[in-house]
Amino acid sequence: MSNLNEPHLLGIGSVAEKVAIVTGGASGIGKAITELFVRAGGKVVIADVKEEAGRAASKEYGDAAYFFRLDITDEDGWQDAIATTLATFGRLDILVNNAGIFGGGGSQDPEAVTLAEWRTVNSVNVEGVVLGCKYAIPAMRQSGGGSIINLSSIAGVQGTPNHTAYGASKAAVHQYTKSVALYCGKKGDKIRCNAIHPGYIDTPILDAAFSQEEKAARRTRIPVQEFGAPEDVARAVLFLASDAANYVTGTSLFVDGGVNADR
Ligand code: NAD
Repeated sequence: MSNLNEPHLLGIGSVAEKVAIVTGGASGIGKAITELFVRAGGKVVIADVKEEAGRAASKEYGDAAYFFRLDITDEDGWQDAIATTLATFGRLDILVNNAGIFGGGGSQDPEAVTLAEWRTVNSVNVEGVVLGCKYAIPAMRQSGGGSIINLSSIAGVQGTPNHTAYGASKAAVHQYTKSVALYCGKKGDKIRCNAIHPGYIDTPILDAAFSQEEKAARRTRIPVQEFGAPEDVARAVLFLASDAANYVTGTSLFVDGGVNADR
């Protein structure tokens, strides 16, 4: 247990002097995380396949942000991204494995889902996270510790009959997060790993997942009766990234307006 007078407990909401990689930082939740981290004193490498939007976002933050074109399924790309982060900012303290895809938009029900779609979704949403952790851990160890935050979903803990590939990929992220937390904890690396499970957050991925009618119907099922904003998720990520969460590892934080409590 920590003493409440310890200075790091005043650091809730601070990542001052810390260096983060945010995958998918060019859009939606990742963009909000990047903005909040920069406002909270951190430096961010925006790692995304969207070059134009990523470069535009990094320009907004001057020296506090750097855009690196990364396809998170590319193992060599990850090694370059980590090396570039160390060369640009000198250390790595935080990895937010945020980039993810929903799929092509058609049904992923058990009969309709194609193997190609299953593989694509799981390659990005699962393998992208696995590679990120694999190459971030040694860099964080070198920096004296760190915090990894993986974006799962409410879809990772409940059945998703029409979105099986997406749901299974987010369930894998949920489980994998615990394994990484235990591995790092037992090694004494001072590297924490946690999952965030957003509910329905109003970003482009929600429009890829649901028609406008479906979206309206889902809204009525949210206990607080409204969609979340990307900033709602970003604040939870900031807490897990900060030293204020120094005893929090291997856990799941739901940012979902009560959806998980209602299942
Ligand atoms: P978004 O579509 O707005 O942003 C996703 C970003 O990831 C984009 O910038 C995209 O270019 C990037 N990306 C996709 N594939 C990539 C790849 N192979 N390599 C690098 N970058 C890639 O979506 P969002 O809503 O901001 O989602 C962020 C995360 O939150 C995702 O993992 C998503 O599954 C999760 N999530 C979102 C919601 C929601 O309601 N929006 C709910 C639960 C979970």
